[in-house]
Amino acid sequence: MPSLGWHLAISLFVISSFVDKNEWKKAVLLVPFGILSDIDAFIGIHRATLHNIFFILTPVLSFVALRALLRVRGEVRKMQSFCYFCFASVLVALHVLLDAFHTGVFFFYPVVLSSYDLSFRLSVRETGLSTAIGCENVGKVGEVVYATVPSPGVPEIPLIGSGIEFVTFICALLVFALKFLPPVFRH
Ligand SMILES: [Zn+2]
Repeated sequence: MPSLGWHLAISLFVISSFVDKNEWKKAVLLVPFGILSDIDAFIGIHRATLHNIFFILTPVLSFVALRALLRVRGEVRKMQSFCYFCFASVLVALHVLLDAFHTGVFFFYPVVLSSYDLSFRLSVRETGLSTAIGCENVGKVGEVVYATVPSPGVPEIPLIGSGIEFVTFICALLVFALKFLPPVFRH
């Protein structure tokens, strides 16, 4: 998987692009959704569990369930947060997509147990532009083991994997901070 810092950087850029500057609390609440899928690694369950298209739908389905619950209780009120729940799903989807292009994910787990590794490359050659797009089935749950925590075999798991990721992360942090700095600090 891409490093935690890389996932955070992409999330910060996307949130900064689409969320209104006065909604800084919602912006901050959305940030964890960019790394939510990696909870499976930290609590020691298989990486397929939270890296699939069904988990992507969790925020939207949570909204639907919450609204239904409020209706049953007779607490019908207008919930205007639907777009933020959708946005949370988009952030989870971006995480899964980035991982899919890095080492592969179990897209359709638990229905299909295979992990798919996507690839894309655009390059220039003497003869012109060249593209390569691929999707490789790299194995099933049980056959494919992704190293997500340090072990004697894989002693180091990068939180920020390179200088490029570090610079990108700092830029994303600055963009986010400058956009959502609470109004009291803007003057
Ligand atoms: Zn991940």
